[in-house]
Amino acid sequence: MPEIKCSVTECAYNKDVKCGAPMIQVDHNGVSDAKNSDQTKCDTFKRS
Ligand code: SF4
Repeated sequence: MPEIKCSVTECAYNKDVKCGAPMIQVDHNGVSDAKNSDQTKCDTFKRS
């Protein structure tokens, strides 16, 4: 997987402000036709 910078440090997969998950799922965030990044979200987030 490519390096993914992620500032959500409270996620269990976050290591040194990077994603350490083997794979992530990104989904729409409450819309069916995203127009900007605010309308997407990481579904793999898990609270540490
Ligand atoms: S799983 Fe998602 S929220 Fe968690 S570190 Fe990776 S990209 Fe960030």
